[in-house]
Amino acid sequence: MQNDMKTPLLAGAASDASEPLPRCPGGPVISIIGSGDFSRSLAIRLVACGFRVVVGSRNPNRIDRGLFPDGVDIRSQKEAVDSAERVVFAAVYPEHYYTLVGLRRQLAGKVLVDVSSATRLNSGEQSNAEKLAELFPESRVVKGFNVISAWALQAGVHDGSRQVLICSDCSTSKDTVLQLARSMGFSPMDVGGLCQSRDIEEAPLILFPSWGGPILTTFILFLFFYGYNSLKHILLPYLDKGQNNFHQLPLVTMNETLPAVALVTLALVYLPGLVAAVFQLCRGTKYKRFPRWLDHWLCRRKQLGLLSFLCVVLHAVYSMCLTLRRAAGYTLLNAAYHQVKADVENSSVGQQVWRSDLYLSCGILGFGVLTLLAITSLPSVGNAFNWREFTFVQSGLGYTALTLSIMHTLFFGWDFAFFPVAYPYYLPPMYLLALILPCIVLVGRLFLALPCLTLRLAKIRRGWESARHWPRNNQEPRSNEADPPQNVGDV
Ligand code: NAP
Repeated sequence: MQNDMKTPLLAGAASDASEPLPRCPGGPVISIIGSGDFSRSLAIRLVACGFRVVVGSRNPNRIDRGLFPDGVDIRSQKEAVDSAERVVFAAVYPEHYYTLVGLRRQLAGKVLVDVSSATRLNSGEQSNAEKLAELFPESRVVKGFNVISAWALQAGVHDGSRQVLICSDCSTSKDTVLQLARSMGFSPMDVGGLCQSRDIEEAPLILFPSWGGPILTTFILFLFFYGYNSLKHILLPYLDKGQNNFHQLPLVTMNETLPAVALVTLALVYLPGLVAAVFQLCRGTKYKRFPRWLDHWLCRRKQLGLLSFLCVVLHAVYSMCLTLRRAAGYTLLNAAYHQVKADVENSSVGQQVWRSDLYLSCGILGFGVLTLLAITSLPSVGNAFNWREFTFVQSGLGYTALTLSIMHTLFFGWDFAFFPVAYPYYLPPMYLLALILPCIVLVGRLFLALPCLTLRLAKIRRGWESARHWPRNNQEPRSNEADPPQNVGDV
């Protein structure tokens, strides 16, 4: 398993430990300083991958040997470091690094792996790994493994995170740790020199880095639509006529709010692509950076799409539960009573039957297409597509989902918006508000499909530039390969 390593982990260093290590068959000896949770999980994983492990503790006799797998030797810190053939893990907290300075001589020339994480973000201080390197100038300090939790280490290769970020100023030592991580079933990633260690240490503290903006946007939309709906149908009728509709808040109002949020969020997925296309058309080049806000927005389309999908799923579940409500039962009974009292045998209205069938059908189809989009946004699925297939799915099917969702809403609203009763307290129906942005996006997309605009845009994306961007001296267009295209994705 280790044959392909450039630098052998077995360096053949003689151990001067007081008692010789039991030479059990297996791989090289790796030492771990510290006997806590991380040390234990690391030992379990290393042993499972064929390495021999020596754990160094301040007080080896105090440790319950049953906590470590068979074959792990528990020694004093000095003995453990001496036993290591090349690699020593420092699995103690950074505030205790200074207690290890007595091991400087034993650690000289060895690869010292710092597995600690930062305690706070953007502290601006020196990283733990840089501090360790200062304390042990003769050791080769490598940063890594801190992004893997003790649990994930124990869980094995098929469960838990697999990516390990690694950096060091010593390339041979870094190669050794990269290969060690690979042998343990991880996917190591070389992120450069030790100056990158601060970022690696902060990585476990970052909470969903690319989701903040999309979640906030969706939440604000939700608050707006929920507030608007509650005001129009619950609060104002209560204040005006004393009608008590507050029981609608948990289910009916939620169910009316979710599709509105889903529709606007879906429009926000496709709007930045259109804005980017307009920028490129106006500038007559693709070799100019988009404004930062647009770059940022373009990079968050996937998250917005998934949040839109979440709202659609919730809307589908809420809709199916509507008939389970006791209030729905009473409404049906009351309607039946009034029908019987009015001596009406058949209250079916053909137009309404069409309306409900059409809006339900568009809704189900839209839901199906959105599900497909959500599945293809998974890296494992999306990576199986070539660029053309991916663009077709994300752009072609995306606009199909948007169109079906708009149709679902229009059929739901039917001609309701043309009657004054739809505007109590001068407030328009919510579905009309929810339709504004998606309709703008759809019309914008159709506008960009005009041949004169599509052809010009296609030319710009192949590298053509309008004459005003040519260099003044020779009036020659810039080479197409001069700059990579901006990440517009699909429009
Ligand atoms: P832990 O369970 O508290 O173990 C730390 C070990 O450090 C102790 O078992 C102890 O070993 C030693 N120690 C304690 N006090 C000491 C002192 N005053 N001086 C010298 N050594 C002392 O902590 P841990 O969870 O294993 O974390 C260890 C390192 O791994 C930390 O830097 C942490 O950031 C990193 N890490 C942990 C995880 C995780 O999931 N736990 C994940 C990623 C990274 P002895 O008594 O045997 O000497």
